[in-house]
Amino acid sequence: MKNRQVAKILYEVADLLELQGVNFKPRAYRRAAQAVESCPTPIEELVAEGKLSELPGVGKSIAEKITEIVRTGKLAYHEELKKELPVDLYALTQVEGVGPKTAKLLYEQLGVRTLEDLERAAKEGRIRNIKGLGAKTEEKILRGLAEARRTEKRELLGYALPLARQLCRKLEKTGLFRRIQPAGSLRRGRETVGDLDLLAISDQPEAAASAFVSLPEVEEVLAQGPKKSSVRLSGGLQVDLRIVPEESFGAALQYFTGSKAHNIRLRERAVSRGWKLNEYGLFDREGKRLAGETEQDIYRALGLDFIPPELREDQGEIQAAERGELPKLVSLKEVKSDLHVHTNWSDGKATLEEMAQAAQTKGLAYIAVTDHFRFSQAIHGLSEEDLERQIDEIARLNEKLSGFRILSGVEANIQRDGSIDVPERLLRKVDLVIASVHSHFHLSRKEMTGRLVRAVEHELVDVLGHPTGRLIGERPAYEADWEEVFFRAAKAGTFLEVNANPQRLDLSAPMVRAAIEVGVRIVIGTDAHALDHLDFLELGVVTCRRGWAEKKHVLNCLPWEELLAMRKRGK
Ligand SMILES: [Zn+2]
Ligand SMILES: [Zn+2]
Repeated sequence: MKNRQVAKILYEVADLLELQGVNFKPRAYRRAAQAVESCPTPIEELVAEGKLSELPGVGKSIAEKITEIVRTGKLAYHEELKKELPVDLYALTQVEGVGPKTAKLLYEQLGVRTLEDLERAAKEGRIRNIKGLGAKTEEKILRGLAEARRTEKRELLGYALPLARQLCRKLEKTGLFRRIQPAGSLRRGRETVGDLDLLAISDQPEAAASAFVSLPEVEEVLAQGPKKSSVRLSGGLQVDLRIVPEESFGAALQYFTGSKAHNIRLRERAVSRGWKLNEYGLFDREGKRLAGETEQDIYRALGLDFIPPELREDQGEIQAAERGELPKLVSLKEVKSDLHVHTNWSDGKATLEEMAQAAQTKGLAYIAVTDHFRFSQAIHGLSEEDLERQIDEIARLNEKLSGFRILSGVEANIQRDGSIDVPERLLRKVDLVIASVHSHFHLSRKEMTGRLVRAVEHELVDVLGHPTGRLIGERPAYEADWEEVFFRAAKAGTFLEVNANPQRLDLSAPMVRAAIEVGVRIVIGTDAHALDHLDFLELGVVTCRRGWAEKKHVLNCLPWEELLAMRKRGK
């Protein structure tokens, strides 16, 4: 559970090296930090198994540094660099408008070390007087501070979900729990999670609570009792465990799953019948229990179809449940493929064959290998000849494989003017063309819209990859007229990706819903750069579910022959 802490140190090293004017190294550290942050396996496990170098961007030297951090909690190299600039650089640079250079300036001129210092300096109007910053920067920092505060304590779903499962597994093994399950925004599949809520049934609640607070991941015990215990994990995340009576489990699960807005609607519905709904159950006027043991009973008693947790946001789901018109949400087991996979032919870690094998082991029927095309000088991308050879290699592998298919593909770059950087001859030769924006993020709304429209209207582009470019907690979506982009994509027959990387989840759930409403077809891709990343597929499915998507909207549910026939050039 130290992934985030390790990543923080690596990010700081990157920033500090950049300040010293060092070339290339900062980029390497940042890439490693991202890999550690988005790795679903606890970093201690990778260290223990000697598997660090399987992470994309982690070579021998950085692997040694990560090992040092995991073993000792710190990094001598980092401490040394930090002598130059002894500030909470990671926190400060989370604020928009504050890069490493600005942080250095603020420290030297105003002695700013922490977010609190920064806030004070900004509020007192001291930043505007620093040469090179000015009133505009001060304003931006004030706005950025509020935003940084909001996202600071939230964890990515892709990180919190495996962690929650790991905690539940460990607690189940104690034999003290009859049932234990995560609730809260994690269960609704929110892209970030503020804290973890676990609900349990136990015949020995005192012993169960004691087992919970004694978990090795726990750093601090905030409360301990037979009904509720709270702890803070070493990564900073707070976890609450509630032990409830069996007859209230469904009511508690419903209540603590939320959302708040959904629960208010549901309570109003109970009240309008003269009933009462709370975390203990649904009760009539006389206080007689009508439901409570399961969520299904509660929704049924209120005259509603069961509403999947992912839809509980008060976005029309209650009305739909009343009319029996809830979507039949796509499920992970209906998904047959991962349609965005990198290999060591570009910047991935595993070979073609290893990726295919891992996907097959996970129960998938096919993958699309979409390595980068000549991405940039610093990151390895395929040349024209490489891509030709890879297509042949895939054909050869397909002859060997049984019950599994590798589709050949490419992740092409959408250039500033919306053109595609792969020659047409090769676009025709591969099975699936993903086109993505990897440069020039800051265009005017009009220019970016035109660029994306040109890309989706390209007759050989099958998929628009990570369409909005947002990185959760780091970079907002590009400015563009999304309604227009979706409309044109639907009309052209170009698919939009739900990129399942935990930091992307792009399209986001509300955008999935908007896109399928205008007739866009969705494909899910993990953007895997290592074997582990194939697990992100579930996050893509959850995002689609939150976007009200059914099986028919998600093309990964089709056999590969039918998927290819759905491409505009397949018609
Ligand atoms: Zn990409
Ligand atoms: Zn990619």
